Amino acid sequence: MSFASLGLSAAILKAVEKQGYDTPSAIQEQAIPAVLEGKDVMAAAQTGTGKTAGFTLPLLELLSKGQRAKRGQVRALVLTPTRELAAQVAESVSTYGANLPLKSAVVFGGVSINPQITTLRNGVDILVATPGRLLDLCQQKALSFSQLEVLILDEADRMLDMGFIRDIKKVLAMLPKQRQNLMFSATFSDEIRELAKGLVNNPVEISVTPRNATANTVEQSVYAVDKSRKARILTKLIKENNWHQVLVFSRTKHGANRLAKNLDADGINAVAIHGNKSQGARTKALADFKAGKAQVMVATDIAARGIDIDQLPFVVNFDLPNVPEDYVHRIGRTGRAGATGLAVSLVSDEEVKLLHDIERLIKRTVERKVIEGYEACHDLPEASLKGGHRAANHKKPNPNRRKHANQADGQKQGQSTKQGQRPAPKGNSDKPSQRQRARARAEAENAQSDGNKKPQNRRQGRTDKSSSQGKVDPYANARR
Ligand code: AMP
Repeated sequence: MSFASLGLSAAILKAVEKQGYDTPSAIQEQAIPAVLEGKDVMAAAQTGTGKTAGFTLPLLELLSKGQRAKRGQVRALVLTPTRELAAQVAESVSTYGANLPLKSAVVFGGVSINPQITTLRNGVDILVATPGRLLDLCQQKALSFSQLEVLILDEADRMLDMGFIRDIKKVLAMLPKQRQNLMFSATFSDEIRELAKGLVNNPVEISVTPRNATANTVEQSVYAVDKSRKARILTKLIKENNWHQVLVFSRTKHGANRLAKNLDADGINAVAIHGNKSQGARTKALADFKAGKAQVMVATDIAARGIDIDQLPFVVNFDLPNVPEDYVHRIGRTGRAGATGLAVSLVSDEEVKLLHDIERLIKRTVERKVIEGYEACHDLPEASLKGGHRAANHKKPNPNRRKHANQADGQKQGQSTKQGQRPAPKGNSDKPSQRQRARARAEAENAQSDGNKKPQNRRQGRTDKSSSQGKVDPYANARR
């Protein structure tokens, strides 16, 4: 299958070719013809599947055939949950539409509203926006939707997660009834289906990834590590394997800052990106990272949402996410569109339950690895993928192993990390709602320190030490 056979015009095909894409991805193959036929689409596709081009290319094709936007009008509206995603979608619109006479704009909060008002006054064919700033602009009568032809909700599940449902409904109430609707979401939860009922008409349903699956192109591994040695182990992994363009996830903003400083002190150029940073600082950090000036970017989940970097080769979970679905989203930043990626998680004693929740969600056991000389006091028993933890005895620290580890740590060796035992966590029968999960995520990110410790897991058991540090070349299967 080629892009030309999908019914796109020469101007768009030329832009696609310039990007080096020769074969449409699965979502593109299905979404492009449906959108071109004017149908509503509901697509389950994660970041990394090529979904942005999946809706941008046919959108450009449709709009290039109609009347240009009149003053103050918008012909297509793309709503995204975050500023970063908005900026990236807008970049794709510019890239793929480079040979077309269409005007596009992007608006989001955290930057001055006046230039945005000026741009909108002239009319734009495609507007990419985050919901809050869009509503502010509507209140200021900066734009009108009476010429609107297409509405696109990108990462709809994230929008609900982040509490944008009321804003979305307000926007929907302002749009003309007669329009084409496209909705993209990583998953089709009940809440998403509920939202879709009032949004899409007789949609073509497309699903390119099974629910909560992780891409096969991502090599995943976990290391059991003592919490106090995580930073040192991360430095070691990065230096010894010569990793570049490493996206590291931290659970807290404070932790992200601290880790970036630590890496810098170890001679690894690192930037941090999180909600407490100004929009300018976030944009600069992302630009430095993309340009390779920063070897590592440390991010919190909310800040990293939707970040798209071509062929991002390495993702490290310095802290495991509290919400298992976030693991899927985090590692979805690597191994995209045919490239191979590596996702590494550092798992401390108190994160074992989180690892098991993740493994049950993705329905697979992640490969356990060990770094010689840096073995932890705890093991990572395999989770029963059917639910419930495998009962096992807590492993006693091996004094020889600790001695060995101390030697490897040299002068910087900190205190031993065996923490006092805490009550085992509640069973997972009372599954938290999406909103509760979103709140947990926001609270975790807002925590000023890592003091919000999870209850420690008491169940320990067998470890599968399958290999030592695996070195992979993430570009080995690089994109066509
Ligand atoms: P997305 O899922 O939209 O975030 O896209 C993921 C990445 O895949 C982006 O970096 C795109 O540039 C890239 N991409 C999109 N379509 C293709 C394609 N057909 N072939 C190769 N790469 C693609």
